[in-house]
Amino acid sequence: MHEMSVALAVVEQVEEAARAAGAAGVRQVRLQVGELAGVVPDALHFCFELACAGTLLEGAELVAEPVSARARCDACGAEWATGMPPQLCCPRCDAPAAGLLCGRELHIAGVRWHEDVKHAVPVPVPEEG
Ligand SMILES: [Zn+2]
Repeated sequence: MHEMSVALAVVEQVEEAARAAGAAGVRQVRLQVGELAGVVPDALHFCFELACAGTLLEGAELVAEPVSARARCDACGAEWATGMPPQLCCPRCDAPAAGLLCGRELHIAGVRWHEDVKHAVPVPVPEEG
């Protein structure tokens, strides 16, 4: 299940950052989820809860922030929201989209620790691999 591997990766990254920060636990994780990231929010919430069990994130709330997908046309320079299912041909000149500007992201946008840290702390995201 795609959502499970995403949830496990998020939990791993946040737990690492929590340990580095000396946090006793994690209250909330905000995740930017692109419209075309291929993740079902309900399934992600379910998997997140499972992935958190027994970690510093146990009981943490996952807040998914949807990111609309946008595409761009090289031929005429138009930009548009692709919607879902995605419209990948230019609405102005009908050329195929040159690429997506956004909409595939799965980024940790912020984390709230337990204890007296009141503001969201950005998490340094380690390089892949
Ligand atoms: Zn165009």
